[in-house]
Amino acid sequence: EKTYPEFVSPDSPTQRVGGGAELGSRIPHRNPMLSLDNCYDEEELREFAKRADRVLEGAPVEYVTELKIDGLGVSLRYENGIFVQGTTRGDGEFGEDVTANLRTIHAIPLRLGSATGGEGQANGEGTDMNAIPPVLEVRGEVFLPKHRLDDINAQRVANDELPFANPRNAAAGSVRMLDAAITASRPLDIFVYALNYAEGFEFATHTEALEKMKELGFKCNAHNECHDSLEGVIAYYQRWLAKREEMPYEADGIVVKVNSIAQQRELGATIKHPRWAISYKFPAHQAITRVEKIGVQVGRTGVLTPVAILAPVKLAGATITNATLHNEQEILTKDVRIGDTVVLERAGDVIPKIAAVLKEKRNGDEVAFAFPARCPTCDTPVQRSDTEVAVRCVNAACVAQLKRRIAYWASRDALKIEGLGRARIAQLVNAEMVRNVADLYTLKADEVCCLERLGQASAKNLIREIERSKAASAEKVLTGLSIFHVGGRVAELLIAHFSSIDALRQASVEEIAALDGMGTRIGENVVTFFAQNQPMLEKLKQVGFRCFEETDASQRVLGAHAGRNYFPIATDSFFSGKTFVVTGSLPGMTRAEAAAEIKARGGKVTSSITRKTDCLIAGESPGSKYEKARELGTQILAADAFVEKLGIAAE
Ligand SMILES: [Zn+2]
Repeated sequence: EKTYPEFVSPDSPTQRVGGGAELGSRIPHRNPMLSLDNCYDEEELREFAKRADRVLEGAPVEYVTELKIDGLGVSLRYENGIFVQGTTRGDGEFGEDVTANLRTIHAIPLRLGSATGGEGQANGEGTDMNAIPPVLEVRGEVFLPKHRLDDINAQRVANDELPFANPRNAAAGSVRMLDAAITASRPLDIFVYALNYAEGFEFATHTEALEKMKELGFKCNAHNECHDSLEGVIAYYQRWLAKREEMPYEADGIVVKVNSIAQQRELGATIKHPRWAISYKFPAHQAITRVEKIGVQVGRTGVLTPVAILAPVKLAGATITNATLHNEQEILTKDVRIGDTVVLERAGDVIPKIAAVLKEKRNGDEVAFAFPARCPTCDTPVQRSDTEVAVRCVNAACVAQLKRRIAYWASRDALKIEGLGRARIAQLVNAEMVRNVADLYTLKADEVCCLERLGQASAKNLIREIERSKAASAEKVLTGLSIFHVGGRVAELLIAHFSSIDALRQASVEEIAALDGMGTRIGENVVTFFAQNQPMLEKLKQVGFRCFEETDASQRVLGAHAGRNYFPIATDSFFSGKTFVVTGSLPGMTRAEAAAEIKARGGKVTSSITRKTDCLIAGESPGSKYEKARELGTQILAADAFVEKLGIAAE
């Protein structure tokens, strides 16, 4: 085929691997990929059915039940039977183009076959059910079989990468790889669950559409069932809840759909959810294990995080060996002691947490954890503050922080330096070859090749990768510096306003604090950091980082002309025109960053819940705002659902 490129057609088997996703290119969905409304008990399910009955005026309703596979929702488009485009669900309105990566999944047909084996197209009458629709869009869930997760994680740990917390993250992470060859190496699978559009075809029921999809060569779940009463639905739920741990894939509940397409149309949808379908969730996964130790990790900004080291236990498809305890307050509130028997829980996409301590299992040998008064790595007395729960090591030379800061500098959130993993960083820091990130840029290949398990060739590659990272943008460099409370979005806002890192270095606490979404704390952190790190910053400039003075011209224009709206506003997003309150701690972002994300999408953020609040974003330990929102009946969005709405991958 290489010699005759004109013969390479997009459905050719050799085209399964090739190129990578053009990540970031946003593709609008034909019609929104709405998320399903959730219910958690039988009563709520009956409410759903009652609402449907009211609209349908008592007409008999058939329900189809399907397992709700925990993976990554995708939309697949075929033209004349050829797979032409695959997108993620994204924010529901726009998805991300992942065509090249989806092509590598063998369960996704590249060319559709019909039951008659012919390749004929629809005859134009739209009546020949054996033909292939000229344009077809189906939706499905890409997933990773449970038993493969431990293998992949073992490999990731060996490669100095963080293990995936669950099969869902593994599936999402694999599909969104830049390199399709990596996606191809993962044993991904798919179940197709909806026929979204089939030009020239009409179906009377969802069951018929499922049959048609199977006939065309799609893989549908074999356990889909049709019921003529709600009792059948409830029995299905009970049956699968009991078999949940034996399932070869992770399912977090069942999906209940009204079978008749005419009735589906009659029921319609709200802005957010269809009214003809609901997901009936299984309760959170639980496992019982023992706290063997409580350790303390020093993060890149010096925050000390207690971590429970657990007797290894299987939970929702992954082997869990530790759980974060977040902070000292959390340990006290839950009264977790070393030696305690605990209930570990994982719900949805959230990382496992200790849900409860089984105090009746105590035998008196349990030991309360004494939060260290000194940094476990550098022995500097820790700093406590009245305004934050975080306890920090503020020693700028702390080796534990340094390793984490360099790891973050090299991560894909910042400068993305391939080959600079945690083990390599530990070697460089322990050998005192690197004392800050700027030192990376004066390393020589013949110096680093003396490190254990690093040959000449990889040493040269590493140096080349480090060199290459000098082209990074000001936003990425600022993010990579690990200034306390300055994550990716805050860094973007700061650079959009100040244009360059050098200009930001001249700014006062007040100037920074006055910006939308910032505040005094961020201002102080930035100014203090720059004051304490002058030599390192000068060295970065000296070795050739251009971004200190320059920034992308278009961005400057945007910053100057658009006033406070630094980002184009999507007027049709979930967020536009609504008022939000953010509370609790969110994974991977500060509340200021969350607020900036909301504002960038046209929403408004206020600090207290009133009747005017449209939605509360509730992170961990949400507190009184959560109660208030419940009282007022305000919509409450959990952190993971929020991240999903933002259209950012949570990994
Ligand atoms: Zn320290």
